[in-house]
Amino acid sequence: MKRFIKYFLLSIFIIPVSLTSAQESIAEDKANYVFLFIGDGMGVAQVNAAEAYLAAVNGEAGFHNLTFTRFPATGYMSTFAGNRFITGSAASGTALATGYKTNISRISMDPDGVKPLKTIAERSKEIGMKVGIISNVSIDHATPAVFYAHQPKRSMYFEIGYDLVQSDFDFFGGGGFIKPQGTIGEVVIDLMEEARKNGFTVVNTRDGFNDLDNTSGRAIAISPRLDKNGAMPYTLDMTPDDLSLADFTVKAIELLNNEAGFFIMVEGGKIDWACHANDGACCIQEVIALDKAIEAAFGFYEAHPQQTLIVVTADHETGGMALGNNTVHYDLNIELLKYQKSSNDHFNEIVADFREKLSGNDTIDYAKMLEIIRNDFGLGHKNKVPLTEEDMKRIKTAFYTSMYPGDDPSTNLTYGGYEPLTITLSQLLNEKAGIGWTSYSHTGVNVPVYAIGVGAEKFSGTIDNTDIPKIIESVMR
Ligand SMILES: [Zn+2]
Repeated sequence: MKRFIKYFLLSIFIIPVSLTSAQESIAEDKANYVFLFIGDGMGVAQVNAAEAYLAAVNGEAGFHNLTFTRFPATGYMSTFAGNRFITGSAASGTALATGYKTNISRISMDPDGVKPLKTIAERSKEIGMKVGIISNVSIDHATPAVFYAHQPKRSMYFEIGYDLVQSDFDFFGGGGFIKPQGTIGEVVIDLMEEARKNGFTVVNTRDGFNDLDNTSGRAIAISPRLDKNGAMPYTLDMTPDDLSLADFTVKAIELLNNEAGFFIMVEGGKIDWACHANDGACCIQEVIALDKAIEAAFGFYEAHPQQTLIVVTADHETGGMALGNNTVHYDLNIELLKYQKSSNDHFNEIVADFREKLSGNDTIDYAKMLEIIRNDFGLGHKNKVPLTEEDMKRIKTAFYTSMYPGDDPSTNLTYGGYEPLTITLSQLLNEKAGIGWTSYSHTGVNVPVYAIGVGAEKFSGTIDNTDIPKIIESVMR
C-alpha cells in the first residue's frame, strides 16, 4: 500500500505534457464536442466480418455498411508498445490517451511506471469541458482506466478505482468495479461510499439510470446486470431489460451536453474478449453494439456538424481474425454464425453444470449434450451446420476433456486455457463459416481509424496510436 500512496502523491505532480501537434489547425471550426470510440481488439477483419455478416443475413452481396464505415476519413494506425511489438490494452490505451509510448501494463505512466502522463480527458477537463468515460467491460479495466488513472500496473484495480472516484470527471458509465473495496494504510475504503463523498450520484438500477438527467450532477451509472468480471453481458446474451452501450452513450450526451463542450470516450471492450475466445458470432454482435453507440454520436454530429469530431479506432487487433480459412477455402459462409444462440461465457455455464452433476455421481448424458449443441450452435443439425465423423470425434474428445479435466499441460495448450468443449464448438462453427483465427492473443497488425467532423481529415493516412490525442488536441477549441 506504501507504493500506492507514493503514486497517489506523485499524481499530484503530474507532468505537464504538451499534446500540441506539429500540425497547427488551420481550420476555423474547432471541435467543442469530441467522441473517441475504441473497439478493443477491433482490427479490419472484425469490422469486415460484421459488415459481411449483415449483408449475408440480409441476402445482400458484399458488405452492409456500418455507421462508422461510412465516415469520410479513414486511416491505418500502428499500435506497438514501448517494450513489445504486439501491444496490450494498457500500453496502447496510454498512447491513445496521452500521446506517449509506454511499456506493457502501464496505466498512463511512463515506461518505468514512475511518472504519470497527462491524458486528453484530463486536458479537456482543464479547459472547462465535461468528460464522460464509458465501457461495457468493468470501468476499472485498462482501456477506460488510461483516461482517468495513473498506475504502474493494470492489475491494481483498487488503486485504479480510487483514482476514478477521486477524479473530477462528470460521467462514468457501463461496467462495475473489480475491486470495490480496499485499504489505504490501515483504513478500509469503500469506493462507492468514497464516490458519493466526492459528489458523484451512483446508480446501478434501471430506474436510477432513467432518473439521471442534466440536473443530476456528476454520476457513475453501472449496468444493473454484470458478469463475474464486473462487465456488462455479451450483446448476444442480452435481453430487452439490459442497458446497452448505446443506452449509456445516449445518457452521456444528455448529461454532458453544455456550451463549454465535452469529451466522451466509449470503449467496446467485449470485442476483444470474444476474439480472445475465437468467437466470431459474439465478436460480430459486439462490433454492431459499438456501431449503435456510434450512431447516437452521429445523431449529435448531424445537429452540430461544425463543432463535433467523432473518431473511431482500436487499441490493437485480437485473435488474428480473417475472412477465409483452410477448411472452406474460397467459400465464406458467414451467415452460419447466426445459429449460435449465446456467448461462450453462457455455454461455459452449461458445461460446468454437466460437470457438477457428474461429481454428484449422476450418469453422463452425452446425447443430451449433443442436443444442446444442436440447439445452441446449429452444429450437427442437418439443415443448419452438418458435421463430419471427424468433427464428431473432436466434439467427443473435447466433451470428455471438459468433464474430466485432469492436469495434462497439453490440454491447456490445445484449448488455449478455455473450456475445451466450448472453444471446440466455437472453432468448429467458425471454421465452417469461413472465419480464420491465428491466435488466442493480440496480434501486431495496424488497425483502422475512421473519423468525421471537425479536423477529421487529419486522421487519414498511416498514423501511430500516439498521434490520436495529439490530433484531437490540435482541433479542440
Ligand atoms: Zn485491448
